[in-house]
Amino acid sequence: MFDITPCDCVKSSHEIKQWYENNYHSLSLNGLWLKGGEPNTLDQSLFTQAEVRFLICRLSTYRDVLASISHGLVAQIAQGIEGVFTDFAFLPPPKDLEIMTASKIPLWVGTTTKEPPCAFDVMGISNSVVLELLNLPKLLHFSGIPLFKNKRMMRQEIPIVVLGGANAAVTSVLHGPIKEQGFGDNCGLVDAVLIGEGEFSMKQFLEVVKKGKSAGLTKAEILNACHGKVDGFYEPDKYEHQYKVVVQNPDTAEKTSSQQDEPLVNLRLTKKPVFDEGQGEENTPPSQGEMKDVHQSITPPASPPYEGGEGGVKNSLLDEEVLAEIVPKEPHVSYPVKSAIVYDLDQVRTMESGPVWYDEEGLGTGSLQISNGCPCFCAFCAESWERKPYRERSLSKLLDALRSAKAHQGLDTINLLSFNFNTHAELYPMIFSFYEEMANVSLKSQRFDLLSTDRFLAEVQQLIGKTTVSCGMEGISERLRRYLHKNLTEEQIYKACEFLFERGIRELKVFLIGTGLEQAEDFGEFGRFVKRLADLKSMSDSKVRIIFSLTPLYYPPHTPLQYHACITAMDDNKKLKKEIERICKLNGMEFRESSSYEETWLMQLFTMGDRRLTPALIRSSISDGFLYYNSVPKQALKNWRAYLSELGLSEEIYFRAKGKDKVFPWDDIDLGISKKFLWEEYERSVSYTEREYCLGRPSVEAQCLGCGACPTATQVKKITQHKISQPFLLEELRKIADSKRNILTLRVVVEIEPAMRLAPKRLIGVAIARALMLAMPGIVPYYASMSGHLRDFVEDKTTADFTYGIDVYHLAFLSKDNIKELLNNEVLSQRLKNIQGHCRGFRIREFAINQGDMPDVKYILYKMHFNNDFTASFIEQKAGEYLHANYVKHTLLKKLNRTIFKVDKKNKKNAVVLYARIDDTKQSKESDAPVSILMVVARRFDIQTFLEICYGFERRREIVRTEIEALGYYGRNPVLQKNIRCASCADAINETFLIGQPLGENQCLVCTFDRDEH
Ligand code: SF4
Ligand code: SF4
Repeated sequence: MFDITPCDCVKSSHEIKQWYENNYHSLSLNGLWLKGGEPNTLDQSLFTQAEVRFLICRLSTYRDVLASISHGLVAQIAQGIEGVFTDFAFLPPPKDLEIMTASKIPLWVGTTTKEPPCAFDVMGISNSVVLELLNLPKLLHFSGIPLFKNKRMMRQEIPIVVLGGANAAVTSVLHGPIKEQGFGDNCGLVDAVLIGEGEFSMKQFLEVVKKGKSAGLTKAEILNACHGKVDGFYEPDKYEHQYKVVVQNPDTAEKTSSQQDEPLVNLRLTKKPVFDEGQGEENTPPSQGEMKDVHQSITPPASPPYEGGEGGVKNSLLDEEVLAEIVPKEPHVSYPVKSAIVYDLDQVRTMESGPVWYDEEGLGTGSLQISNGCPCFCAFCAESWERKPYRERSLSKLLDALRSAKAHQGLDTINLLSFNFNTHAELYPMIFSFYEEMANVSLKSQRFDLLSTDRFLAEVQQLIGKTTVSCGMEGISERLRRYLHKNLTEEQIYKACEFLFERGIRELKVFLIGTGLEQAEDFGEFGRFVKRLADLKSMSDSKVRIIFSLTPLYYPPHTPLQYHACITAMDDNKKLKKEIERICKLNGMEFRESSSYEETWLMQLFTMGDRRLTPALIRSSISDGFLYYNSVPKQALKNWRAYLSELGLSEEIYFRAKGKDKVFPWDDIDLGISKKFLWEEYERSVSYTEREYCLGRPSVEAQCLGCGACPTATQVKKITQHKISQPFLLEELRKIADSKRNILTLRVVVEIEPAMRLAPKRLIGVAIARALMLAMPGIVPYYASMSGHLRDFVEDKTTADFTYGIDVYHLAFLSKDNIKELLNNEVLSQRLKNIQGHCRGFRIREFAINQGDMPDVKYILYKMHFNNDFTASFIEQKAGEYLHANYVKHTLLKKLNRTIFKVDKKNKKNAVVLYARIDDTKQSKESDAPVSILMVVARRFDIQTFLEICYGFERRREIVRTEIEALGYYGRNPVLQKNIRCASCADAINETFLIGQPLGENQCLVCTFDRDEH
């Protein structure tokens, strides 16, 4: 038994802001993940006046979900509704989670507003990965949110908790009661689920909330109003999952499908499944049993019977509880709930104005969804079955979206988001027009079979600079690929590789799936294939790096494999991995495994699991404190086995094969494909047969398979008569590639505010490009990329990006048409105010066209501000130590509130510090002002070392918090001007002014800043 009273968290955003200010240095990424205020997030001043406050919550860390577009897209949808304010919350990284819990800071906190979840009206949880669900109970609990719906509904100040995302249709483990843990009729970790695509449903939902809130409705009334008005709206507690005890009778039972035994037979060739140990022989599907008329509804508020508890049902293979029926509790709720689907992608926007995250790597890269769903029927592919039918966004809409996304996010690279980009009908004109307007077009997954009939595509990929290719081979033999419905022959893979190798690709990643059904002949076939591939590589004189990546088969709900025994979860088949690895390495190829057995097991349990697992989930997350950060420790699996046994359950009941009439816990949700179709496809799988998928292709006469996903005959026709448009002339593409060399550079000098000093410097460059494009839409097609910026001298150090103040960015534009007129100084200064309006955290000081390369900086003028714990004499002592350690001969001069380190004339040429001056403002009237040091430093100067000497080592707090302002940049005087003398010291002026604070007239760099002393 554990305490389920929600944690008493800090409730005031003022206090949370204070806490953040005092602690950001000790958080991961120097607290950037919790900083908020990224470009395209809403200004916090809008929070108070908003009609609906919507907190978009992720179950994983900021860093882990950077690449995901779902939370950005949700925000874009929500921001399209007047009066809705959005903010984001993320799972804190492990270390930060402890720090936050200790200070009672809600784990989910609005990053921009620093408001706790209770200050919002709705918490929208975006769930993409199954195992992330492990984190939900803890995140709720330590964010001050009651764990159970019934408790939340009693308190109006608690937000509505709604879950959506790619995994939303497979969340039965969240919806159960926990009575057997001694907590009464509590149930339901979320209030509602939005099933399917959110473009319309999220909008409908927020509209209902807004209306309900202004009408003064209670949360329960608002949720009630969603039924029938919000597509894919599922309120789990409105459906009763009724269980019955089944008496298994192996002697008399008839098998539902003779093929069902096959996987199990094969499994036993490798290893006895864990659950079989000491338990006899059979893995019989539930349909073999007879229903015994023992009641049990275990949906909330009733509880599942458990060993020794209410109901007293035994945990036995021969006498067990199975889900018998799902019954809607109220007449107005739909049953089953039909998933929301956007049939016409042109009616909705893909992500255009998502936040520009604080992420050095992803800056300047965005994604456009070119199609949704997949026309193929791979038996294992959840996304494909859950998102049918296949739909495409038209090129004209995509071009508009590209320009908008480019402007809003300052993009130079665009990813074409799709299951397989080479199914899109307008692929070639799309590549052509995108490549014309974007520096880089990135293509991700493609199908081997389509590539094998299109040599041209390999050439195009080479031309646009794609050097790494990923393709799914999946089964290691044709037999296993038929089992997986991959529609892929060895010849097709070979042909596609031939095209790729002759085009000089550098890396080929081939995905494999370990099914647990592999036999000697399959390994033999795979060995011969890999050898052929190695021969092809050497014949083509290719240097390609080939990586085979192996994943264990996952049997997802809503797919044909939902009926299959989960062999890979029952058995960690090490022999299979070893054999595949051996074959790959023997032929000079690399081998990787993409997930551990523990992950496979737990993920499979969660997806096959039902509402009876909710107590275990809570226990695992809260009592045992196990959170999912991309791995599952062995201990977690042990714990889960123990929870199952305590609940009177076993992995066996979830992992064994299921019969045709099996009632699944997800049967109250309809994703558009009938169970009949899924069963037929399952039967095909286990008899190793497959049909051609329904997409029209030149080499195949495609036919509708009758899966039921297309709502109209026109939709069916669109797919079966689908044609890919003719390729363009390669010559045209080459011309574009050549024209990209003709570049015009815009130099932008900016002043970065102290608040942005920890953000990646590249982000400012991207934000400048964004501001320019938003203010001047005419330049969007011409913007190429941020080609450079001034960096602090010592790169790749933790402090390298800590400065603020003056910086210089170069933006590259395609030099064609009238771009010179669009970007001339006069136009830019006229637009400056408008451009400035799109800048947050920095100000533009000046623009200049084609100033040549990035300035060659030799000296920088810094001003460092030390906090009040440090006295001027202490800094003086430390600065002296630093100069001594770096052999800088100098004289110490003291005047009023200043201490000057005057570097010896002879020493100046090679010195790392040319001049330093400590201003002790503490002695002045501003007694609270910190001590600062002004320094002119040369290239070798390393801020981090300097600060470490000042503070002592391991003083991360001070190092991260020191404010360092860059005030000016200077170059070295050309040799010709060497005899120009400084009017103050009469030395040769060796420096030239570049940017920032100018040199004094006829003065050298040192005298310019020392002039007050003469
Ligand atoms: S080709 Fe197969 S694996 Fe790939 S997205 Fe389509 S259905 Fe899924
Ligand atoms: S209904 Fe027919 S055409 Fe449409 S996705 Fe299903 S099989 Fe393909």
